Amino acid sequence: MKEDRSEIVVSEQEIKKMVQHLADRISEDYRGKDLVMIGVLKGAFIFLADLVREMKIPISIDFISVSSYGSSTNSSGIVKIVKDVDIDIKDRHVLLVEDIVDTGLTLQHLKDLFQTRSPKSIKICSAFDKTSRREVNVDIEYMGIQVPDFFLVGYGLDYDEKYRTLPYLCHLKIN
Ligand code: 5GP
Repeated sequence: MKEDRSEIVVSEQEIKKMVQHLADRISEDYRGKDLVMIGVLKGAFIFLADLVREMKIPISIDFISVSSYGSSTNSSGIVKIVKDVDIDIKDRHVLLVEDIVDTGLTLQHLKDLFQTRSPKSIKICSAFDKTSRREVNVDIEYMGIQVPDFFLVGYGLDYDEKYRTLPYLCHLKIN
């Protein structure tokens, strides 16, 4: 199989601008509030790390690790929690931080799960959005950049654990 990653879909500069913009909005909206930002591993680790360093307010950070059953290029929506958060989110404001929303099934599942733990509020932030692929209507309060329905890698997104460290997002063609 041949992998070709020639086409950049979102540049490093565009990503930096998006991160700054989102961090400003989130900082403003949660000023004076007790906020826990939860990164969805593994894909969101780079986005979360960039985002939290631009925040203007104190926050807590945690991670949840999920695996979605399905092929490496298609999620099935059946989500398995591989590692849960350590922090108790009861009565705290929660912001779930995701790399990309595709069908929306992963975030819908996580939002439902966290809702059972009585947070003060729960909202979602995603770096990228493939709106055209959405299967469930999940609200994404902080959305970065709309992307086309391609298989994308870079900026945390992988193919077979490769390409996560690319500073831009690109289209991976697998022939
Ligand atoms: P959803 O449940 O919204 O269909 O899927 C979301 C998850 O699928 C993302 O967190 C990511 O792990 C994976 N995903 C969706 N689209 C892509 C893509 O274009 N490239 C990669 N590498 N992963 C993707």
